[in-house]
Amino acid sequence: MTLKVLIVEDLHYDAELMALRLRDEGFELDYSRVQAEADYLAALADPPDLILCDWHLPQFSGLRALSLLRQLDLDLPFIIVSGGIGEEAAIDALRQGANDYVLKDRPARLGEAVKRVLEDKQLRQAHRIAEEKLRLAERAFQNTAEGITVTDVNGDIVSTNPAFEAITGYTQEEVLGQNPRVLKSGHHEPSFYRDMWDTLLKAGHWRGEIWNRRKNGDVYPEWLTISAVKDKRGETTHYVGVFTDITQIKEAQDQINFLAHHDALTQLPNRALFRERFDHALMHARRENNSIALLFLDLDRFKTVNDTLGHPTGDQVLLEVSRRMSNIIRSSDTIARLGGDEFVLLLEEQTSAQHAAVVARKLMNLFSSPMNVGEHELVVTASIGITLYPNDGDDPDLLIRHADRAMYEAKQQGRNTYRFFTQALTEGALERLMMENELRRAISRDELILHYQPIVDIKTRQLRGVEALVRWQHPKQGLIAPGLFIELAEEIGIIGDIGKWVLHTACDQLAKWDQDEFQVPRISVNLSVQQIDQTLVMQVSDELQKSALAPERLELEVTESMLMRNPELSRTVLGELKAIGVNFAIDDFGTGYSSLAYLKLLPLDRIKIDQSFVRDIGRDSNDEAIVRAIIALSKNLGLESVAEGVENSNQVDFLQKAGSVLAQGYLYSHPVPAEELYRNWSAIKA
Ligand code: C2E
Ligand code: MG
Ligand code: MG
Repeated sequence: MTLKVLIVEDLHYDAELMALRLRDEGFELDYSRVQAEADYLAALADPPDLILCDWHLPQFSGLRALSLLRQLDLDLPFIIVSGGIGEEAAIDALRQGANDYVLKDRPARLGEAVKRVLEDKQLRQAHRIAEEKLRLAERAFQNTAEGITVTDVNGDIVSTNPAFEAITGYTQEEVLGQNPRVLKSGHHEPSFYRDMWDTLLKAGHWRGEIWNRRKNGDVYPEWLTISAVKDKRGETTHYVGVFTDITQIKEAQDQINFLAHHDALTQLPNRALFRERFDHALMHARRENNSIALLFLDLDRFKTVNDTLGHPTGDQVLLEVSRRMSNIIRSSDTIARLGGDEFVLLLEEQTSAQHAAVVARKLMNLFSSPMNVGEHELVVTASIGITLYPNDGDDPDLLIRHADRAMYEAKQQGRNTYRFFTQALTEGALERLMMENELRRAISRDELILHYQPIVDIKTRQLRGVEALVRWQHPKQGLIAPGLFIELAEEIGIIGDIGKWVLHTACDQLAKWDQDEFQVPRISVNLSVQQIDQTLVMQVSDELQKSALAPERLELEVTESMLMRNPELSRTVLGELKAIGVNFAIDDFGTGYSSLAYLKLLPLDRIKIDQSFVRDIGRDSNDEAIVRAIIALSKNLGLESVAEGVENSNQVDFLQKAGSVLAQGYLYSHPVPAEELYRNWSAIKA
């Protein structure tokens, strides 16, 4: 490369000598000579690589040349080449920015000096570029929207940028020297961080989504890249983490996800989500041997609403329909809008044809009150088709098709009704509907009666109490056992009335026997789960007052499953009744689930061993062991045990040996009407 040299020299010959000298030293050069300020300035317009300058010139000076360079802010290698320059002047020259000086009579030094100043210049340039780069990097670091965390190799934070503070809420000062762990959200398992470090150590970088916690406690998702920074030897010296807050992206994603799975008008699950849930429910049901009911609902003559009142009104109707429907479903059920005026309801838990019919009827009831849409008052009805898994198929498409077909049947039958895909079920449901209506009227028509079954001392056979058991004296079907109507009464919400009637009648009867001087020590009354609420306390104390009975003479029977349905409430209600003085027995013990710890908290007096265990005495050693265990448990809790369903003397022998105190069963008496009990037992002294 040719070196472009500017020589400031009045003597042509001296300049030529300098050039010769440098060429001798191996430089390839091109030079021009100036000796006046104006020429000098002109030459600088196209800056040379090097300036060689005499100190004393007739019309110019080295000092002036230097100061002009400075004014022009030019960084050019500048060597004084002078005949005689005193030490003072030399120092002065260097101070003014000259890079070196060479005496004219010592030209041997010139080559070396030029080499050095050129190198220096290169170095200076490299330095400047590096500095510039650094400045840029710092600018980027400070201004980027990405949060940056720099840690040393131990993971202690050595630097953060303003975006870090904006996202996390922590200033650099607050986290310096700390571990990025301060941001940990607790959303990830330890294995997550272990994997992260594994990758980071092996590959030198890690990238992924991570949940962190801001200073204000908010947890947010970020997209994070961590890279190891290595020195020349390949040793990691730092880690740099660069992250973006992706909260908004996530929210948008969720939103999209929601829109993809829900109906825009009603916000109900749409066909896609419904199918997902249905498939899932079927899988579950297959595994657990459960049944599922699918109700396909189509509004009647919805097209007319749309056509005559317009779509906005139609939309309002659909909204109201979905609102009303949502109100009656259980949390385990799914309701979805398939499109238009078609809705489906998926009943998953504890589903039977009966339950599906009850829900269908509830749905139809929902529509019985008119809807106010704008200035219109509309009565909307619906037709419902019902399919059951596994009864009507086990493929989702088939089940939906069958439900659709059943719905069509319902329309054919004159709308505003429901049909099962399997005809017999519809008939069964109709029968039930009739029974339901009759049961509703049973109390007012005086069709309920109580039978009483003795509870005796197992040793002496003395009467210790009676259990009141309800029956329905049906005008056409005769005497109906409680097992056939109690559940229905619970489902249609009239068990409260029946329970009240039973309680009243039982107390009344006991008072009557008292009057007749027939000593029945105690009367047991069965409760239903729906009766266990605050009103029960009032109701019981009312009855006791009316019949003037000592509270201890009333025993209420509850089952474990009833109590476990709402353990807190049960405990309070039982506690309050116990405070009055009422007795409690756990009925059908051994068939439900409850914890001993919980039972201990209840104010119990007796445990009734379920008759299924008693029945197997002498036949099943396992059940015998259970009976023994229950009796031992009762003793332990300080309670009396009552064996239910005692039918023969072998059972009595066994029970007596095992320590049972009381017994009840056909061996002593069937449940019988009050007069019969009086006739059979009043002669025997209690
Ligand atoms: P539970 O409370 O366990 O009543 C005992 C049942 O066992 C009665 O059936 C009784 O007739 C029967 N039983 C008594 N001794 C024997 C025996 O030696 N062998 C056999 N195989 N059975 C015997 P019932 O009257 O049909 O009542 C059935 C269930 O209905 C009762 O079981 C009770 O849970 C419920 N129940 C009865 N009355 C009422 C009531 O007024 N309210 C409520 N909520 N439930 C009631
Ligand atoms: Mg009972
Ligand atoms: Mg029982």
